[in-house]
Amino acid sequence: MRITFSDDGAQMSRNTNFVILTVALLDNKNDAMAAKGNHTLAVVKASENYEVLKEACGNVFRKINSLNRVKRFKVGEKTINLELFFGGDYKFLLTVMGVQNATCNRSCVWCKMPRQNRWDISYNLSHYNNEPLKRTLHEMMKMAGKGKNNYCCVNQPLIEIHLDHIIVDELHLLLRVVDVLIDNLIKDVLEWDKREDLRRIETKSEGFISTS
Ligand SMILES: [Zn+2]
Repeated sequence: MRITFSDDGAQMSRNTNFVILTVALLDNKNDAMAAKGNHTLAVVKASENYEVLKEACGNVFRKINSLNRVKRFKVGEKTINLELFFGGDYKFLLTVMGVQNATCNRSCVWCKMPRQNRWDISYNLSHYNNEPLKRTLHEMMKMAGKGKNNYCCVNQPLIEIHLDHIIVDELHLLLRVVDVLIDNLIKDVLEWDKREDLRRIETKSEGFISTS
């Protein structure tokens, strides 16, 4: 049985944030994407930061980690095998996996590509998914204890699920990309309006000069 744990942050007012941790059965295809298939595990009134999540959701995370280690649980006489996934928006995944932040030198959860080479799209996926660039959970846990040369692993991962089962929420990525594109479009439109207005004023004043 495949199970996914997810998080979402929700801003209720200007200074009230909630973190909501949910669980869903991926094999329950009809409901997995619907509200009725996603069950709330924890609601925390706080902003998404490492210390708060560690303190407030520590028990839930520990339970998820121990389930992931044994990969099975019993219901009566029946043993159910488990495959666990963990998802969320990118900021939440960075926080939970102990990576510094989205603007640090090695800000990818899955690989150690440094900032200065991030523009280079000439490599294929296997370049990032193999040594020496690929991150592993084991390495992240080891690096978190080091003060420097830690590839931006500043905290112990709170979730101990292997990285190929850590899934970023595509909807959040898409919404943010669209937000930035729309923002750029609006700025361009305002700029065109400004230029048009200036041109109109110029033509008017030229007209005024020529008729006087
Ligand atoms: Zn990467």
